Amino acid sequence: MTSNHDSTSAQQTESPHEPGGLPVPPSPLDRLNDECVCPDCGSAHFNRGPTAGLSLNVRCAGCGSKFWYSPPFTPARIDNPDCVYQLGTRLTLEQILTH
Ligand SMILES: [Zn+2]
Repeated sequence: MTSNHDSTSAQQTESPHEPGGLPVPPSPLDRLNDECVCPDCGSAHFNRGPTAGLSLNVRCAGCGSKFWYSPPFTPARIDNPDCVYQLGTRLTLEQILTH
């Protein structure tokens, strides 16, 4: 009489979790939100432009780049005429937001 010890250990091989989804690459324009400086030239001074609700148009006082600014949303590059900006007033983003 033979007792058959069946000792099969069922090993389940799980495939390692792979990160799904693609990481969103950080936009260089996020510098405007994160560091409050122009992504193009690093200037911290801007001309105030037209506002629309919670969003704001700002023009870099250093290089003239214009941005749609509505934190925490990623800023967008815009192009509208200089005459809609207060070119004589150089403000930091913080000053613009609190004015
Ligand atoms: Zn600039």
